[in-house]
Amino acid sequence: MAFWKLMLASLCFALLTLSQSVQAAAPVEIDGLRSVIDVTPHLDILEDTDYQFSETDLRDAFFDARFEPLYRGAANYGFSKSAWWVRFSVKNSGDKADKVTFKLDYPLLDYVDVWVFSGKELIQSWETGNRRAFDSRPIGHRDFLFPLTVEAGEQQTIYMRVRTDGPVNIGLSLYGQHSLLPKIELEYLAFGAYFGGFLLLALCISLLYLVDRHLAFLYYLTYILSYSSYMMAFNGLAFQYLWPDAPEFGQISRPILLTLSIIFLLQFSRSLLGIKSLSPFLHRAVTGLQLVLMPILLLVPFVGYGALVMPLAILNLVALGLVLAMGVTAHLRGEAAARYYLMAWSVFLVGLLLYLLKVFGLLPHNFITHYGFQVGSFFEFIFLSAALGVRVKQLRHQSHIDTLTGLANRRHFDEELQAEFNVSSRPEAELSLLVIDVDNFKDFNDQFGHAAGDEILRHLGEVFNTQIRRPGTAYRYGGEEFTVLLPRTSKEAAILLAERLREQVAGDPALKTVSISIGVVNCHDSKFATAADFFDAGDEALYRAKDAGRNCVATYRPQAKDQPAPASAADTAPA
Ligand code: GH3
Ligand code: MG
Ligand code: MG
Repeated sequence: MAFWKLMLASLCFALLTLSQSVQAAAPVEIDGLRSVIDVTPHLDILEDTDYQFSETDLRDAFFDARFEPLYRGAANYGFSKSAWWVRFSVKNSGDKADKVTFKLDYPLLDYVDVWVFSGKELIQSWETGNRRAFDSRPIGHRDFLFPLTVEAGEQQTIYMRVRTDGPVNIGLSLYGQHSLLPKIELEYLAFGAYFGGFLLLALCISLLYLVDRHLAFLYYLTYILSYSSYMMAFNGLAFQYLWPDAPEFGQISRPILLTLSIIFLLQFSRSLLGIKSLSPFLHRAVTGLQLVLMPILLLVPFVGYGALVMPLAILNLVALGLVLAMGVTAHLRGEAAARYYLMAWSVFLVGLLLYLLKVFGLLPHNFITHYGFQVGSFFEFIFLSAALGVRVKQLRHQSHIDTLTGLANRRHFDEELQAEFNVSSRPEAELSLLVIDVDNFKDFNDQFGHAAGDEILRHLGEVFNTQIRRPGTAYRYGGEEFTVLLPRTSKEAAILLAERLREQVAGDPALKTVSISIGVVNCHDSKFATAADFFDAGDEALYRAKDAGRNCVATYRPQAKDQPAPASAADTAPA
């Protein structure tokens, strides 16, 4: 009876294994392979949640029967503590031996063990992975590459076991002898351009910082450097070239570099968008997040990547939320740089989203999803640089504008006067200058109050702005004094303009009883040695106008230096 039971059980098992083996995915057929084959549709998968299987189970019927074909589009399982077993077969249906290479194109898998069988015979095996020294790889490359030689008519079965702290991401493809090198060369060329771009950007930004000393440049530089280093680690290039013998260091380098780049990104964004004055709340939130991130940097070497991967992912999301909130707030407040800033994050997010959907198994593994993250961040940096350019231009503009009157300020005047004076040294050049001072303004303030005085100055700014056309420019020189720089303008034209301004002010009811006195000087009035001498001459002319009784225009007269001009010396007087 027991014998019959045993026979029945054996039969059932035989049927079961038969039905299972019928379900197994078809082998990859090669015959002098010259191109690339996606192995994904040929994969059988087994999730080993409690590490019950090992090398000794390979080629065991019970073990083999546990595999299931990969029903979904990709072997990406997100964060998983399980060991993932993968099986596929390669069959050479040609009449010559073929050398092929299979490639696992996610470089951040901690442990990757591979066994190759020909029938029941184990012909090759490798133990490698991101947490084993780089030279454990059969081929020294940032991705995992495994070479196979398949004899004519032979079928080989490959088992692979993957265990990793990060997301489980198994993209497998089979390369013919002639297709692997061109693919790798192209890829490294693209990486060269990508990281070369970062290097160039870092150099440009360093130079700009040395010239301009604006802190946003410095923060941007730290962000570029930490982010590009993170990208090198993320791509497996840092492991290959920088620390091939220190896989454990590589393991902690990624969370450290990522955390650093987020801290610097927040700092850069805040400075770029001027968040401190726009939103004290966001300013404090950024400080708070930075304070949470800093201890994580110190924790990484002790706690390890595995324990921090989830908290870091959540903090990344918070950082992204803050970055977007800063961008939107600055945009709503009319900050010009915010538009480019938001564009930068839009392209980055699209790239990141495509990549994450692939990592978590919701999108297929292809060029766009695989490199989406990197392409997105490339464009992100282009737009961030544009945003920085806009911001610096805007700040420079602001530093040249007087806030009360909206006219250009003294700093701008000094620069422009110097530049125009240099040009005016040529004999045929023309340059005139008006120096304007409000008459008895102290009395006005005393009578109507300082606020009313401010209103007068603001209104004067408007009058000058509307009356003075290019190439002339009005400046608030300081206090109740203004200047008008008139390149390519003759002395006669300058006097006419000065008189028109004086009349306009005297007749403007909004300006009450306020009047102005104007000194006029032209570059041919004397041999001026410096721009300061030229300005002093204008100032002297102004004093002549004051002496002549105010509300009038006076021109510079070289001899006036030694002989104080009489009151009647004003060239034009109130009507
Ligand atoms: P004058 O030039 O005709 O000789 O007489 P003044 O009273 O204008 O001359 P002074 O240079 O002694 O005084 C200038 C006054 O301008 C003093 C100050 O109260 C006023 N003033 C300067 N800057 C401002 C400002 O930004 N706002 C206001 N409201 N007043 C200002
Ligand atoms: Mg004055
Ligand atoms: Mg005055």
